[in-house]
Amino acid sequence: MLNLFEEDNNDHLPLISEEELSDEQVLVELRKIKEELKDQVVVLGHHYQQDDVFQFADVTGDSLKLAQDAANLEKPYIIFCGVHFMAETTDMLIKDNQKVILPDLRAGCSMADMANREQVDNCWEFLQKSTKEKIVPITYINCPATLKSFVGENGGSICTSSNARPIIEWAFTQGEKLLFFPDQHLGRNTCAEMGISLDEMVVYNPNMYNGGLTAEQIDKAKVILWYGYCSVHQGFTKAQVDSLKKDRPETTIIVHPECSHDVVKASHDNGSTAYIINKIKEAPAGASFAVGTEINLVNRLAAQHPDKEIFSLSPYQCLCTTMYRVRPRWLLASFRAIKEDRPINIIQVDKETTEHSLKALNKMLELS
Ligand code: SF4
Repeated sequence: MLNLFEEDNNDHLPLISEEELSDEQVLVELRKIKEELKDQVVVLGHHYQQDDVFQFADVTGDSLKLAQDAANLEKPYIIFCGVHFMAETTDMLIKDNQKVILPDLRAGCSMADMANREQVDNCWEFLQKSTKEKIVPITYINCPATLKSFVGENGGSICTSSNARPIIEWAFTQGEKLLFFPDQHLGRNTCAEMGISLDEMVVYNPNMYNGGLTAEQIDKAKVILWYGYCSVHQGFTKAQVDSLKKDRPETTIIVHPECSHDVVKASHDNGSTAYIINKIKEAPAGASFAVGTEINLVNRLAAQHPDKEIFSLSPYQCLCTTMYRVRPRWLLASFRAIKEDRPINIIQVDKETTEHSLKALNKMLELS
């Protein structure tokens, strides 16, 4: 797991020091080298990326859209300004002659790091022993490739925050129970929206013996949620929603479904990043929104819609610190390495993992 608090020394990269180039000079050189390599390189920028990096993106979007767009481009190098699992998904979808590069290898995802293959295998074994009912595994796309492979190997599917509901509905046509990982909140919020009671859901904690559950609890439950969460979205609280509703009744509170269930339930609306962007875009001038998602996106939406009032639901910094590791300096280092014909930080998923993962990915695309 990545240590979010470790020193930012990034010694795996050929550092471009501040003595060599100032921040401003880095941006100037980036513009030059990007133009020079425009036939070879495409830059993908996730919505949560900081503006200094986002401005260099040729294609922007959420993780699945970016991976799919990359697969339709002919450029041999794809620099993914996002986090590790996103670069992995892209590698599974692109052509053999393309390479995906993550500017900083430590740009991980705290949620994706909360479940690994060994833990999920152990959980699966315990679940199978605990009930005779069929369990269908569904993973949120925010997970390592090995877990995408797991669901492909076990008759399940991947989902995104946009299509979690139809995928979970499908899962219940295939079996009696659902194992949902790694984000408990997306699983709980979606199942609750479908009318499944919270009493029918249990949480499997991989850090406890047998997940902290008994076989009887597993047998009774309809939904087994993994104890994982996004540290950014879990930071929003119901108290923030309640106080805003009282003080600013004219403001629409819209949150991401990675927020906890009490936050989602108390808010006026919830949906994926793409849903939030569209809702704000379609709102009339003068509309007011308090948004419960990553701060770079909230600030960008505010700048893009000066005729509307858009602000963060939280007064604290809701920053994806791992995404933030991708800096213009590392982006420039990636470009320089390509120019010198020694590309660095290439993300590659092995063939077998890719094959199983694609089964699950295709299942999702077929169902959504
Ligand atoms: S915002 Fe949360 S889920 Fe998204 S990449 Fe950052 S830590 Fe992961």
